[in-house]
Amino acid sequence: MARVYVQKGKARPFWFRHPWVFSGAVERVEGHARDGDIVTVLDCAGGFIGAGLYNSRSQIRVRILSHREGEVIDAAFFRTRLERAVALREDVLRLPAAGTTGYRLVHGEGDGLSGLVVERYGDHVVIQLSAAGMKQREGVFLDFLEERLRPRSIYENASFPYREVEGFTEGSGVRRGELPEGEVTFTEHDLELGVDLRRGQKTGYYFDQRDNRMTVARHAAGARVLDAFCYCGGFALQAARAGAREVVAVDSSAAALEAGRRNAARSGLAGRITFEEADVNVFLAQTGAGGRRFDLVVLDPPKFAVARKDRDGALYRYHALNAEALRVVEPGGLIATASCSFHVSEADFDDMLNAAAKKANRFLQILHRAGQAPDHPVSSACLEGRYLKFVLARVW
Ligand code: SAH
Repeated sequence: MARVYVQKGKARPFWFRHPWVFSGAVERVEGHARDGDIVTVLDCAGGFIGAGLYNSRSQIRVRILSHREGEVIDAAFFRTRLERAVALREDVLRLPAAGTTGYRLVHGEGDGLSGLVVERYGDHVVIQLSAAGMKQREGVFLDFLEERLRPRSIYENASFPYREVEGFTEGSGVRRGELPEGEVTFTEHDLELGVDLRRGQKTGYYFDQRDNRMTVARHAAGARVLDAFCYCGGFALQAARAGAREVVAVDSSAAALEAGRRNAARSGLAGRITFEEADVNVFLAQTGAGGRRFDLVVLDPPKFAVARKDRDGALYRYHALNAEALRVVEPGGLIATASCSFHVSEADFDDMLNAAAKKANRFLQILHRAGQAPDHPVSSACLEGRYLKFVLARVW
């Protein structure tokens, strides 16, 4: 097995079990390692740090999977990790549940499986492999998922930008079973939802906001609700079902809105939600200027900061957007505002929100804060896995 030595002075994160050895931390590689091979990681004095997947093409040169000296990283190793991930959902989180059959089954580092995301959509499973070494071991994951879950299909979603960086050639496709054309359905807190796994955004649906949708629903009865950046209606549907007086759901994607309309029809909520195709920035400016107000505004924009260098620009955009959104909240109403950019920290988000309140000349009372749902667990050694920020505040 080839050995990767970490530069002097750069080993500290790895003693604390951070899984990513970046290229800049590598001093030298001894022996021959092909991309995807298991290598041993050592500090400059030759002390054992861990073992993981090597990739010469990736900025993350090694993804450490084990810190136990002598542990063999083979199919049995991965099956144990996968079983632990399934058991967390089944035994602790009680997923699947009677009213929730869609959820994340494996969340990368949070489940000790760097480079692997698995989601379950009722009878269908989606897998995303973002490391060459994981892609090479795809068969192990597929076999396990097929045996353990007996899904009707397993679909690999390879539609992410860094695929080429990692050195993948195979694109998205059905790997096991049969995936019907069009939408598959699953449930979330008793609502039936449909997504097209081949054409939807991300891996299909944003499960991370599942519990935050219920937070919004708790305050929705009788309210005029705006769901800005609604995708296929996750927040809007729960708000409507909870008895909102009026729900307006805005997104710039016509396909997402069509899916939202179908979802509303599935639950008998078609007449209760207006899906509107618009740029949220334009919608808010027009709504603000026109004097129209909402009692509850949900603001769940896409990731503005993809890389660290985007942080300042992203904060500026979040600030402008939140200020505009605050202007359309009826005094005494609520805003539920989120950011899924890891590179915007919780403290950054708080400062941004306060600056937006000042800009909009409003007083904000923070009532509740949350992150992603617990089927997106975070390794204490890799806080990069905690990316979602969600704040519910009263607005005066
Ligand atoms: N709230 C959704 C997830 C939102 S994801 C849920 O609960 O599932 C972000 C959404 O923002 C995407 O659907 C994308 O189509 C939309 N979007 C991106 N830029 C936009 C813009 N400028 N105006 C309106 N929608 C936009």
